[in-house]
Amino acid sequence: MSICNGVAGSRGRNPIGIFIHNDAGSQNANAAFYRNWLQTHPLENGFAHYYVAQDSILQAEDDSNCAWHCGNLDGNLNYLSVEVCQSMGDLGVFKHNEEKAFQLVASKCIQYGITPNENTIRLHQEVYATSCPHRSVEIHGGRGATKAYFIERIKAHIKQQTAKPSEPPKPKTPLWYQAHVSGKGWMDAVNGGIAGTVGQNRALEAIKIDMRKLNFKIKARAHIQNSGLKDFGYIKHDTVIGTTGKGLQMEAIELIADGLNGKKLQTRVHIQDIGWTRWTSGMIGTVGMNKKIEAIELRLV
Ligand SMILES: [Zn+2]
Repeated sequence: MSICNGVAGSRGRNPIGIFIHNDAGSQNANAAFYRNWLQTHPLENGFAHYYVAQDSILQAEDDSNCAWHCGNLDGNLNYLSVEVCQSMGDLGVFKHNEEKAFQLVASKCIQYGITPNENTIRLHQEVYATSCPHRSVEIHGGRGATKAYFIERIKAHIKQQTAKPSEPPKPKTPLWYQAHVSGKGWMDAVNGGIAGTVGQNRALEAIKIDMRKLNFKIKARAHIQNSGLKDFGYIKHDTVIGTTGKGLQMEAIELIADGLNGKKLQTRVHIQDIGWTRWTSGMIGTVGMNKKIEAIELRLV
């Protein structure tokens, strides 16, 4: 049940716009104050649907009822009314209340299909000889600028309130692999990132890819020192691409993904004294360069 009990009559249809007022109350004129004040003073002196204050927002009248807020028949009958409270007090508090009012007005615009514009977002002084909303007009640079500011802020809140929640991030494909390097053997597996060593004068001899959780297939080929190009075909889980225990460097590698819908598997390698190569889906390495591949990195893009 509303505080004002429909004393100004029922509208019988949705509001067509919203008046934003400044209540001309002091720092103490918060929502709790208005709750008491409305019940102890004649409502004929005027009241609004909402009182937006630092402590809370007070709804004094149902949206479906009219309010006596602007001394104008059309305004009282067809529009909702929102008071930004504590307008004679601290500027920071007032501006904070004003912003909360825009948020409320935005939600009412959404609820009643009101598009914020010059005709729907109204100032008291447009229809009545009053300085209301005096503090807003003072701080936003006059009537026109204030109206434009109100509309812009309300639109921003509508955009925010109607924004679709963003899609949760898709789980990252677990791309685990590990490197076998000279003098060290198999290193720990990494989930993306660098496999191998950098700056230790060690050569990459082989890699293995954990295929168990991948929903696509990979074909592998590698250039192996003294052995030339070796085709591994579709690799299985833990297929050794390269050689181990022979001291042979891997000179180049090619990993081709099959069944990745629209995505690509890319590879880059870190070459001794040179650094990282570009990312590629093709053969990459140091064939004929007499330089060691030290590390490898895979990614899905
Ligand atoms: Zn007013």
